[in-house]
Amino acid sequence: MLDIIKECEGAGRIGISGHVRPDGDAISSCLALRKYLLNAFPGVIVDVNLEEPIPTIFDGETGYAEIRRDFPDGVSYDVYFALDCNRERLGEAGKYFDAAKKRINIDHHESNKEGVGDENAIDPEISSTCELLYKLFEGRYVDRDVAICLYTGMVTDTGVFQYSCTSPETMRCAAELMQYGFDHSALIQRVFYEKTYLQTQILGRCLMESVRFMEGRCVVSWLDKKTQEFYGVLSKDFEGIVSQLRNIRGVDVSIFMYETANQEYKVSLRSSEKVNVAQIAVRFGGGGHARAAGCNMSGTVYDCVNNLSKYIEKQLKEGSEGETLES
Ligand code: 5GP
Ligand code: MN
Repeated sequence: MLDIIKECEGAGRIGISGHVRPDGDAISSCLALRKYLLNAFPGVIVDVNLEEPIPTIFDGETGYAEIRRDFPDGVSYDVYFALDCNRERLGEAGKYFDAAKKRINIDHHESNKEGVGDENAIDPEISSTCELLYKLFEGRYVDRDVAICLYTGMVTDTGVFQYSCTSPETMRCAAELMQYGFDHSALIQRVFYEKTYLQTQILGRCLMESVRFMEGRCVVSWLDKKTQEFYGVLSKDFEGIVSQLRNIRGVDVSIFMYETANQEYKVSLRSSEKVNVAQIAVRFGGGGHARAAGCNMSGTVYDCVNNLSKYIEKQLKEGSEGETLES
């Protein structure tokens, strides 16, 4: 097992990044590791470098205000951690990772098979990068701040311990973290359920405008650039739309896509149990987990949906996850 403390011994400056468009697990794993390293090595510089947009709902986590968002050149790191992602999804932080003396990759995405670091801890069976970190921490240097971050990442990646990635081990880990004493009810409400009025409106619009196909086994909704600008919404306002669509009775796969540039879409996929959407996302240069994945696609909405449906239909017909990621 990766020994984080050993790997960081003697380091003067350590960097940490998660994926672009960071979600709860990406942000919280970075902040948990930062505080853990500061507890273990007082005096060492630990930078968390993340790209905007960074959701403000996580601003209760220790270190949130210190997140570096500007990526200046000329900063070099002894150790660099890529959390909750592969090399491609590091975005601007990729330059720091590549130039670091030692690179460490900690992730739970099944599409990131081997890891991209000199040292790797990759486990697709684990609910979240935060749960994986908790295992790697082995109970040392964990305090209430670290516990809050880890619990938050677990809550967001498991949909409050509901998604199939939740294991008995996840619950044991969450139980141990709760013992550090924080208001878990308020935390869950804030990071998972609460939405701004605007977010609720955009959710409502996407549900209203959604289109079912394949006899109601798939559903898609999308937002073009013009509509996003009309409402004044950003990617962080779309959290939860695709899972709400997946909740529709009879739906095996839900798709949500938003336009990032002319006829360029960021696509989110969710599946209830039959389809492995990571395998589909990988075909389009993306990745993720069996039940939640994403990719970027270009063309009209019709083209994108058509391309995705071929693979969805194939899996539904075969009734299995027959194909491997490489095929
Ligand atoms: P979401 O739909 O919430 O953006 O992402 C669902 C899951 O798929 C997350 O675990 C996310 O990290 C992963 N994912 C989303 N987009 C991409 C992508 O373009 N590439 C890879 N490798 N993973 C992605
Ligand atoms: Mn994650």
